[in-house]
Amino acid sequence: SFTIAIIGRPNVGKSTLFNRLVGQKLALVDDMPGVTRDRREGEAKLHDLSFTIIDTAGLDEGPKGSLTARMQEQTETAIALADALFFVIDARIGLTPADRAFADFARRADKPVLLLANKSEGKHGELGAMESYALGLGDPIQISAEHGEGMGELYDAVSKLVPPTEDEDEEHEETDEERAARPIRVAIVGRPNAGKSTLINHLLGEERLLTSPEAGTTRDSIAVEIEYKGRGFRIFDTAGLRRRSRIEEKLEKLSVADALRAVRFAEVVVLMMDAQNRFEEQDLRIADLIEREGRALVIAVNKWDLMEAQPGQIAGLRRDADHWLPQVAGAPIVAVSGLMGEGIDRLMQAIVQSYAVWNRRVPTAALNRWFEGAIANNPPPAVSGRRLKLNYITQTKARPPSFVLFCSRADAIPQSYLRYLVNSMRETFELPGTPVRITLREKA
Ligand code: GDP
Repeated sequence: SFTIAIIGRPNVGKSTLFNRLVGQKLALVDDMPGVTRDRREGEAKLHDLSFTIIDTAGLDEGPKGSLTARMQEQTETAIALADALFFVIDARIGLTPADRAFADFARRADKPVLLLANKSEGKHGELGAMESYALGLGDPIQISAEHGEGMGELYDAVSKLVPPTEDEDEEHEETDEERAARPIRVAIVGRPNAGKSTLINHLLGEERLLTSPEAGTTRDSIAVEIEYKGRGFRIFDTAGLRRRSRIEEKLEKLSVADALRAVRFAEVVVLMMDAQNRFEEQDLRIADLIEREGRALVIAVNKWDLMEAQPGQIAGLRRDADHWLPQVAGAPIVAVSGLMGEGIDRLMQAIVQSYAVWNRRVPTAALNRWFEGAIANNPPPAVSGRRLKLNYITQTKARPPSFVLFCSRADAIPQSYLRYLVNSMRETFELPGTPVRITLREKA
């Protein structure tokens, strides 16, 4: 959905704004333990507008006034993920050097920015708001996130950005036949030198396109189509992207924006890791992105030819994957050697299987049966002496499997309980390697 990131220096009130917009009524639940994610996301509501909102406030621990590398990285990630930005300042304090530093990010993003002069309750913010014109981010909108003032102006501004809510039911539903007839869109992502191009070259059966930086290759055309055992695959090559950008910008790593492009393109994402340095920070970040975008995931552990054969090695990989990536528990993990062409068969099978799971619709009767069993085995906790009532659950869509759970008090259901439901559902319906979403809704 349309995504807005809230950015700005610490203490300007980003979280307060986030909480006001997300409220407690509709929590987007995410079976994410937060190992790699320092941002919060939620479904924001502003009258009849809905959009996804990302808060970068978890970063507020940096030393006062400084912009730590970590904050920078997270702000950049949030900006890359967003379609538009809320740039927040504290109107009572006026502009600080840190505000200006964050404003640079906002300007460079080349995305619509709304300048929000927060803490403007009463007339407190007049001065800061005036000052903020100097940022060159347009007219400030004076709000008070805490007191709920200025929400009308905010609504007017946001309504010009957010497209009208698409009704998910109206989405064209592909038939199984239609789906089988077209290629599966696959992206192969991973850190530089994981071996992505080598694998793609192997799949193509010839050394072309990828190993040499061809001038004039546009970003959009870096996709190749192959047929493997009668099934079509359209493969998006991020290695090609990186090579090209390296030449242009001397970038050493795959940028978030590039990874995001690839992930958005794909239905199934192959996260390729180097067997000798696997599950590193950057791998987990990419996995986080894949989960966030709701894509099916296959993990390929490459350069397996360099590993000394040892008993239990594959089982160890499985354990590592489930430990590091609990949010996509059971994601298929395949040991390959792109160089030697080993494990390719299993990789392609895993892609097809993951794709099928991602497209799965759980039959209503089976879903109801599971739901009753799951809450009987482990009832939701009581809150102030009253048991929470979970009424029913329904699958609203596939790709990835998404459910709405109707209940008495959405705000009172702990994340841990929802994680329990997701895991139980995963096991019962065999949903490995795909994100599973449960959204809570209060029964009217
Ligand atoms: P990319 O940046 O992910 O596209 O990685 P490349 O495909 O360019 O590979 C990086 C380096 O790893 C190259 O020197 C490859 O020859 C090497 N490499 C790639 N795959 C394998 C593999 O399966 N086994 C071994 N031993 N080396 C590999």
